Amino acid sequence: AKAEGRNNYQFYSADLNRASEQRLELETALRHAVERDQLRLVYQPQYRLADGRLVGCEVLARWRHPELGEVPPGEFIPLAEETGQINAIGEWILRRACEQAGAWRQAGLPELTFAVNLSAIQFRRPTLTSEVGEILDQTGLPASQLELELTEGILMREAHNTLETLRLFKGMGIELSIDDFGTGYSNLAYLNRFSVDKLKIDQSFVRGLPNNPNDLAIVQAIIQMAHSLGLTVIAEGVETADQRDVLIENGCDQAQGYWFAKPLEVDEFERLWQSRPDC
Ligand code: C2E
Ligand code: CA
Ligand code: CA
Ligand code: CA
Repeated sequence: AKAEGRNNYQFYSADLNRASEQRLELETALRHAVERDQLRLVYQPQYRLADGRLVGCEVLARWRHPELGEVPPGEFIPLAEETGQINAIGEWILRRACEQAGAWRQAGLPELTFAVNLSAIQFRRPTLTSEVGEILDQTGLPASQLELELTEGILMREAHNTLETLRLFKGMGIELSIDDFGTGYSNLAYLNRFSVDKLKIDQSFVRGLPNNPNDLAIVQAIIQMAHSLGLTVIAEGVETADQRDVLIENGCDQAQGYWFAKPLEVDEFERLWQSRPDC
């Protein structure tokens, strides 16, 4: 048994070494991703449920490495956060999204909202609001067409600095939404202090619709409370017509998810927007 134990340890330690080597490799590769033009953005349509109208999109980052292939954002975003690379990458994402949105505006496409994810690390930078302002100026995108998605965690930490930053964004006319709502520890009354505009019901609650009574109760409660506070509600991860119907019945304002459309490449999204802006 002892020998076996030692063997296991050796396997384990070899695995660990390999894992940390791979991590280092990925980290180094990520360092060059922006300059080597390996990052791109995809756009997931967001629809108003009352009339099925396309009203916006969520901007999501993608990384294709020549040898590693597509690295999922669930892998490279946390890595970028741990190494601080998220500041440069996040700025690139924001700039690229606003440039694209500004170009579409120039081309005369109807107005949409572009929702960009912000990491908690980006939020700690004192220069964030002025960076965002500069990007809007340079790209000519009206602030009202930019939405920033924040997580509950951002709001719960460093409450003082957070309030100030959110006030500045609001003053600029930028929309603010709370991503993955219901998965953190905040409550709506508390959130109300932060002058957010929109809640995104996390897909873990949407998944259980229409049959799971707990998920249904949570979704109903979020919609009712959000509306009584004057907030817009969007459900994410909507994959079936049944889920969409329950959301409509309960007065949810907007939805996104595979049932409507996957995140689309830039030309695919443009085509959908021009040819069928209703779902
Ligand atoms: P998220 O912000 O919650 O984004 C929603 C995720 O759900 C996306 O995964 C999207 O592709 C996926 N999704 C959309 N519709 C459906 C559906 O109907 N069913 C299911 N099962 N999934 C759906 P993605 O693109 O892999 O992104 C994963 C996470 O990575 C994001 O979660 C976000 O936290 C992070 N992320 C992605 N892009 C960015 C970015 O540009 N900046 C930052 N800071 N984080 C990003
Ligand atoms: Ca998001
Ligand atoms: Ca989300
Ligand atoms: Ca999520």
